Amino acid sequence: MSVTLLRTKLEMIARNFWWTWHPEVTELFRDLDPSLWREVKHRPLAFLARMDDAVLEDRARALALETRILRAARRMDDELKSHNTWGDRHAGVLKVRPVAYFSAEFGVHESMPIYSGGLGILAGDHVKAAADLGVPLVGVGLLYRQGYFTQRLDASGWQQEEFEHLDTNLLPLEPALGPDGKQLTVKVDPETGPAGSAASAAVEVRAALWIARVGRNRIVLLDTDIPSNPEEYREITHRLYWGDQQSRIRQELVLGVGGMRALRALGIRPSVLHLNEGHSAFALLEAIRQDMQEDGIDFDTAAERVSERSVFTTHTPVPAGHDRFPRAMMAQHLSTMRAALGIDEAKLLGLGRVDPASEAENFCMTVLALKLCNRCNGVSAVHGDVSRDMWKNLWPGRKSSEVPIGHITNGVHVRSWIAREMLQIAEHRLPADFAMAPSAAVFEDSIRTISSGSLWEMHQVLKSHLISFVRQRFVEQEQRRGADPRKSAARVGHLLDPRALTLGFARRFATYKRATLFMRDRERLERLLCNPERPVQMIFAGKSHPRDDGGKALIREITELARSATFDGRIVFLEDYDIASARMLVQGVDVWVNNPRRPEEACGTSGMKAALNGVLNCSIADGWWVEAWDGTNGFTIDSPGPHSDPLVQDERDYAALMDVLEQQVVPLFYDRAADGVPQGWIERMKQSLLTLGWRFSADRMVMDYTTGAYLPAARGLSRSLSY
Ligand SMILES: *Cc1c(COP(=O)(O)O)cnc(C)c1O
Repeated sequence: MSVTLLRTKLEMIARNFWWTWHPEVTELFRDLDPSLWREVKHRPLAFLARMDDAVLEDRARALALETRILRAARRMDDELKSHNTWGDRHAGVLKVRPVAYFSAEFGVHESMPIYSGGLGILAGDHVKAAADLGVPLVGVGLLYRQGYFTQRLDASGWQQEEFEHLDTNLLPLEPALGPDGKQLTVKVDPETGPAGSAASAAVEVRAALWIARVGRNRIVLLDTDIPSNPEEYREITHRLYWGDQQSRIRQELVLGVGGMRALRALGIRPSVLHLNEGHSAFALLEAIRQDMQEDGIDFDTAAERVSERSVFTTHTPVPAGHDRFPRAMMAQHLSTMRAALGIDEAKLLGLGRVDPASEAENFCMTVLALKLCNRCNGVSAVHGDVSRDMWKNLWPGRKSSEVPIGHITNGVHVRSWIAREMLQIAEHRLPADFAMAPSAAVFEDSIRTISSGSLWEMHQVLKSHLISFVRQRFVEQEQRRGADPRKSAARVGHLLDPRALTLGFARRFATYKRATLFMRDRERLERLLCNPERPVQMIFAGKSHPRDDGGKALIREITELARSATFDGRIVFLEDYDIASARMLVQGVDVWVNNPRRPEEACGTSGMKAALNGVLNCSIADGWWVEAWDGTNGFTIDSPGPHSDPLVQDERDYAALMDVLEQQVVPLFYDRAADGVPQGWIERMKQSLLTLGWRFSADRMVMDYTTGAYLPAARGLSRSLSY
């Protein structure tokens, strides 16, 4: 077989993020050259760029990899071309015009850090599941050239942020080309001078378009870092959630307005607009403008049509978490749009206010989306309740329960988060017609029949993978900090005990997630962790927003504890939480702990990833856990709930957390039969897999969106337009 053919096949695979959820492909690259694979940070294109033909030929032959390469390429081709998908049967109307899915972040893979947390991972999982199911959907987002940061802790445990420049050549990103063969760009409306002053010279700002292929779907990414833009505007898409309000409104205009124009430039005419959070809500204004222009209709008629076909998902249960812009800023950035829409300032501002007449209210992106989308939803059942109550004033005269905001509970993309070992249990049972059978549902059958012993053994293997991963990272961390290598080598040996009950806590270090709740009483903590018969250990990870000193202080508190003599080796803080380390953690710990301040966790998805791997959740009854827990499939931190005084609430939740750990989690884990296997625990693992795997999968979520929102919205369009 010629090396050219091998390279062509490998490049074809490397140019689609599809490979990221097919572990046999990852293993192919790893087997070709393990150290290079690590060095290029798991980016196949970077890998191929560094490996010359002679070496590739040599390695492929020596390791007999040719067949595996061809097989992987054929599988990808087959899957992407299959017309036998769920979407083919159920969502045919979207084939003509796809769904446009707008999101300020997309977490597809660790090599493309254009996500900061749950919202982005959800968006990535949504696009992947839609691709697997054959639901035509185009993502629209921003290409952050400096991405989200790499987290390093200094000697005192204080977070430092490092930004790397994203190299588009080393990622499966293609410039979207126009008929002239040049990269397409779209125009963003010029700004006018600050209110009151004479308009400054209108600068033309453009965004270049990139395409990321994700299975059979695509994500369009906008990038203002192009030479023709003035310096100030090139920075717009550099960093995620970094700047002040001014940078934010600029980013949101590029995302929403630029995003709609990008679709048009690419010849994509979406049947449905789905806004993942309010950041992209300006897309609605641009959609109205386009309808007005094309069909010669007035603002109100166009607005009604756009509402018919638009779906809005809100994610934020706290009023302060919603983007708001003052009037002057709106005037500076939206004058051109307002003129094109033919509406006066009061009408525009009113679209973003609960009370349109209230001068005191800033323009809120969530309100805009709620007013202009006929289908709105929260991301879990409780979050639906919270949202209806929070926004009831938008529908005066209605009771909370009558507010038209529903819920579709989030889910996670099974193949992205499930361990290879776990998937193999299911794989041999998967019918040939894989794409028709949503992965998690098939997986449940295997769980019913697997023996407790094998499930436990598999879990031990995953746990040991995690422990070696953490140890290796620890050595690297220490090296970077200039620690004495002999000392760190001595320490690493007793870092984490494979037999000890291992708790994982990893998420953004936002203060409401209360990472340090467990630390309230050191003596009680010492009794819990340092019992020689029943040892317990904890692994933490998470980034704090660069400007959130409160979150950074929590990280420091945990690292101080981890370095204390008492807890050395039993508490670990793993630097630089990202998709890669999340995958290791959710696959390898015994228990996934989640103790946010109720009701601030809209849904939470990391616990779903844990559940897919037989890891038990121990969670506050908030977000998804309220509908997930059935008394047998994990543990609930059972406390009375919200209190007007957050300190009282913290105190009560702390007590409940420690109680459940001491009285339920630890005893069940250490209740061993003669063969050393914890039967009761494994029963719970199975219950968790059976009751949560499918229900909280992204397959189920995308099917819910398709049947509950996309199809009705698309039908609305076919009624109002004649095509
Ligand atoms: C899943 C995930 C999240 C979201 O987790 P929550 O439990 O919803 O906070 C955040 N960051 C990364 C890297 C993840 O993989």
